[in-house]
Amino acid sequence: MTHILNADLHCHSIVSDGTLTPEELAQRAKANGVELWALTDHDEIGGQERAIAAAREAGLRYVTGVEISVTFAGTTVHIVGLGFDHTHPTLVAGLRQTRGGREERARDMGKELARVGIPGAFEGAMKYVDNPELISRTHFARYIVEAGFCPDTNAVFRKYLAEGKPGFVPHRWATLRDTVAWITAAGGVAVIAHPGRYGLTANEEYALFTEFKAHGGQGVEVVTGAHGQADYLKYAGFCQEFGLLASRGSDFHSPTESRTDLGRLPDLPGSVTPVWERLGDRIH
Ligand code: AMP
Ligand code: MN
Ligand code: MN
Ligand code: MN
Repeated sequence: MTHILNADLHCHSIVSDGTLTPEELAQRAKANGVELWALTDHDEIGGQERAIAAAREAGLRYVTGVEISVTFAGTTVHIVGLGFDHTHPTLVAGLRQTRGGREERARDMGKELARVGIPGAFEGAMKYVDNPELISRTHFARYIVEAGFCPDTNAVFRKYLAEGKPGFVPHRWATLRDTVAWITAAGGVAVIAHPGRYGLTANEEYALFTEFKAHGGQGVEVVTGAHGQADYLKYAGFCQEFGLLASRGSDFHSPTESRTDLGRLPDLPGSVTPVWERLGDRIH
C-alpha cells in the first residue's frame, strides 16, 4: 500500500455518538474519496459487521475499529484499536465491562444538570441514544441544544459538560494496560487517539507515550480533525522518538456538528510510517 492514501481510520456511527448509520458512513466515505476506512465507535464494536458489509457493498477497503475510553493521569484519554478480530472474547468482554458504568453516570449527570437549571436531561438525552449501552455526553449536548440552553453542542461542552463544569461527572474508565492488552489479544494495533486534545503537561504526555509503548501500543494519530499543523509536526516527531506508526482519521460524528468531514484531511507527513503499511493482511 502506498504512503499517500486517503485513509480515514476514525469516525462514529449511531452505535455510539455519531448521527449516521454505518451504511450512511460507508456511502459518505466512498463519495468523499476515502480508500481505506474504519468505523471506531466509543467502547463498542456492535457496528462492525454492518460496517464490513456496507464497505463491501460500496467497494471500499475496511479495517475493524474501536475507540476505547481510558483513565490516565486523572483524565480521560482515548485509544483507537484497528485491524482486530471483532469476535475475540477478551476484547468483547473488556468492552462490555467498560460500557457498564455509562447508564449510572448518565443518571448522575441528569441530577447535576437539574441542579443548575436543566431538568429532564437524562430523559432528553435518551431520545438521541440508539444503543442503550452507549449513552454519552454528546447525547446530552444534543438535548441541551434542543431545549434552547445553548446555540450548539460545542457551547454545551464549554458551559456544562467539559471536565470541571457542573454537568461533568467524573468516571473511572479502563486502564491503559488493559485497553492495549484487549486490542493486542484480538490481533489489532493500538493507537493513541488525538493526543493534542488532552491538555497534558509535557511530563504527563511523555509518561503516556512511554507507558503506552511499554504495554505494546504501536501507533499514534498524527493527522486528525482535532490537530493543526503544529500538532502534525510534533506528533510526527513523537513517531520517530517512540518508534510508532502514524494514523490519520477525521473523528467525524455528524454532518452538522463535525468540522472535518470523512476523508477531508491533509496527508501524513513524509517522515512517518503509516499504520496501514502494517494492516495489509487485516483489510476486508
Ligand atoms: P463521553 O465518552 O460520554 O465522555 O463523551 C465523549 C465525547 O464527547 C467525545 O467523543 C466527543 O464526541 C464529545 N466531546 C468531548 N468534548 C467535546 C467538546 N469540547 N466539544 C464537542 N464535543 C465534545
Ligand atoms: Mn464522540
Ligand atoms: Mn476521542
Ligand atoms: Mn472519536
